[in-house]
Amino acid sequence: MIIAFDIGGTQIRAAEVRAPGVLDPVRSWPTPGADFAAFVGVLREAAAGADRVHLSIAGIVDPVTGRARVANIPCLDGRPLARDLEQLLGCPVLIANDADCFTLAEARSGAGAGHAVVFGVILGTGAGGGLVIGGHLHRGARGVAGEWGHGPVMGRTDVPAWTCGCGLSGCADTVAGARGLERLDAHLTGDGRDSRAVLANWAAGEASAVRAVGLWLDMVSGPLAMVMNVIGPSVAPVGGGLGRDQRLVAALDRAVRARMLAPPDAALLVPALHRVEPGLIGASYLAEGI
Ligand SMILES: [Zn+2]
Repeated sequence: MIIAFDIGGTQIRAAEVRAPGVLDPVRSWPTPGADFAAFVGVLREAAAGADRVHLSIAGIVDPVTGRARVANIPCLDGRPLARDLEQLLGCPVLIANDADCFTLAEARSGAGAGHAVVFGVILGTGAGGGLVIGGHLHRGARGVAGEWGHGPVMGRTDVPAWTCGCGLSGCADTVAGARGLERLDAHLTGDGRDSRAVLANWAAGEASAVRAVGLWLDMVSGPLAMVMNVIGPSVAPVGGGLGRDQRLVAALDRAVRARMLAPPDAALLVPALHRVEPGLIGASYLAEGI
């Protein structure tokens, strides 16, 4: 029996894996963010009798040291997580980043099924991404391959280089997700509208929202076009809250392809198919060597 977990900053979600991509009903618990013993207690309860445990986590694991970096779950941060959990749960533990799990889910049974190179784009609160090549996760030497949202990439003089959670300034992550769209809208209009209001007004043709989304498309499509040139995916499923807006994904796809070398004629950025539990579904596909 395999139990898949999606470990988020506020919730732990778990389900038995009937087959890769097929889950039993999902259970959830609040995440004990500061108490590792309580955290393990939740996993023990959910994984009683498991032969193996698969984790999607809202953080990264250094592939050399095995240490996790999970900013919003302090009790996991800096810990050699797989090793610690294997000792405490008494079974093998496989761990992957949540954006990587999302991309794996899309590559195996979502919008990327049948594609050799799949680049997953998360436009949630912030920006994230993952890369699956030939069905395998490409995690990179530091475990952060696919994280297109970091590194100062902005060249505009009319937009401040906002400080990013990673410590740098001017990262795509500061403008790319829902908070970023709100920040750009507020910068242009002085309004405090949330991203849904901005997008609803944009769809209705309201001038200030059209300007805000236009600026967003310009700033987000540049880094993504470079990613597409470097990686060469044949599809890039878009997940996260903003990925639910099909009109926005289509506009972003056009903006990205307009900035690419040798762009494809057909859409490259497409809405993700796994809208429900992408972390758990992706975790269900984890295996040794994936
Ligand atoms: Zn950053």
